[in-house]
Amino acid sequence: MASQTQTLPEFRNEPYTDFSVPANRRAMEAALEKVRAEFGHEYDLLIGGEWVKTVDKFRSLNPSNPSEVVGVHQKATPDLAARAIEAAYAYFPDWSATLPAERVRKLLRTAQLLRERKIEFDAWLVYEAGKTWPEAEAEVAEAIDFCEYYAREMLRLATPQPTVQMPGEKDEMIYLPLGVGVIIPPWNFPLAILAGMTVAALVTGNTVVIKPSSDTPTIAAKFAELLLEAGFPARSFCFLPGSGSAVGDVLVEHPKTRFVCFTGSRDVGLRINELAAKPQKGQRWIKRVIAEMGGKDAIIVDAESDLDKAVDAVAASAFGYQGQKCSACSRAIVDQRIYDEFLAKLKPKAEAITVGPSDQPGNFMGPVISERAKRTILDYIEVGSKEGKTITGGGEAVGNGYFVKPTIIADIDSKARIFQEEIFGPVLAVTKAKDFQHALKLANDSEYGLTGAIFSNNPEHVREAREKFFVGNLYVNRKCTGAMVGAHPFGGFNMSGTDSKAGGPDYLLLFLQAKSIAERVS
Ligand code: NAP
Repeated sequence: MASQTQTLPEFRNEPYTDFSVPANRRAMEAALEKVRAEFGHEYDLLIGGEWVKTVDKFRSLNPSNPSEVVGVHQKATPDLAARAIEAAYAYFPDWSATLPAERVRKLLRTAQLLRERKIEFDAWLVYEAGKTWPEAEAEVAEAIDFCEYYAREMLRLATPQPTVQMPGEKDEMIYLPLGVGVIIPPWNFPLAILAGMTVAALVTGNTVVIKPSSDTPTIAAKFAELLLEAGFPARSFCFLPGSGSAVGDVLVEHPKTRFVCFTGSRDVGLRINELAAKPQKGQRWIKRVIAEMGGKDAIIVDAESDLDKAVDAVAASAFGYQGQKCSACSRAIVDQRIYDEFLAKLKPKAEAITVGPSDQPGNFMGPVISERAKRTILDYIEVGSKEGKTITGGGEAVGNGYFVKPTIIADIDSKARIFQEEIFGPVLAVTKAKDFQHALKLANDSEYGLTGAIFSNNPEHVREAREKFFVGNLYVNRKCTGAMVGAHPFGGFNMSGTDSKAGGPDYLLLFLQAKSIAERVS
């Protein structure tokens, strides 16, 4: 890679639009109307620079009102998946040879286009992912942040890397792209995670096949269109909606696949890891797997803490976006001395939460993503009601959409299923701890290790949590959701994944390989 001279202003997180300002509110209403007028449009696959239609189609729905079809999509087949990998492989020599500065320019253009259409993307997220206005806004801002942050990171990595100089030699280390990457995002951050994983791979010189979630393919299609508009060549990426169970294995196992970048559930992540580890006929490398998976995130509330702040943070982390964040608080572990008071304060907070269609700004919680998700969550609520005491919620909320009430189940033992298993909905298990040491032990009693928070005014307890709370993202006296690009590089331990630290200085290295060159000069 040629060294770069381009410099950019220091990275800054994208500010959020304030929807209490009447003009912004009107702009959002207009965007919702515009997007609604595009409901039901058909989107094609993109393979080797060509738009492709399939006989079978599938539809994505508005989870606030499932009778509305947001987009109609082609359904990739295993043959098309193999074709997509071959097409991305064929273009890799061209794309990997482009100068990093040129790729960075396209990425900055992507950020700029997203910024210009921020409110429109907000509206797509409201309708296809069931995000409330502020949740949608935070996601689009995060997508912009990934583009801006990785653009700067690429410039840093394209400069000569520091090496010790041996006498009589010129010693260098440079970074090269890997090859064809398969990008598999989840539906819960269908823009930010998809965009982050995709642009990290592209800006480092890899070509990719993007397989979006079947629940949110329209947002993905909109982002694919934006990449083209920003100047990414139509052959640098393939866009391949379709069922993960139908095409996933072909993409992962293909001998020309060099790496897989996945975010999603534990089970799918483990399957990808296993399949990718087995070399296929003609394969010349060990595939790299970047897998960010589930969470069972806990907030510890110490006896010595600001209880009101802790209650607010638990409510926001447990019920924001209907508890469908990998970082959502699904376990509150509370010191026995303040346990009853904590519950007494939390219950009315949950009961004050408004649940309904996400396009109506008065609702704090929208729908869960699908009928299937709703059923799973309701089943867990049933299990939880036997494992503990349901304090509030405990079932569906009224309306046409997939609405579930914010639910708190107290007196949960650490062996309980709802303490151990990821539910991915608005269900909070509350557990009593004997003291701080016990709380820490309970928090770590999980196969996951993604985010966690502690509320405590005791410096010794905070010190201990920093040392022993085994999570990739630890927060002290604040909520456990809302990681910001640059400030909180994101990724988890244990079954939460490979700890990739998205939005941090280690991330782009996952998409590169280092070449060391020593030349004798005297
Ligand atoms: P999922 O069911 O694992 O699906 C994720 C993606 O994998 C989708 O695109 C899906 O496609 C695809 N897929 C399904 N089966 C596949 C297979 N056999 N081979 C290859 N790909 C396959 O997860 P989800 O329900 O979308 O997302 C929720 C999960 O993501 C939660 O566990 C959450 O904690 C996790 N998550 C983690 C992070 C993190 O940073 N750690 C961030 C966000 C979410 P289809 O949609 O077509 O099935």
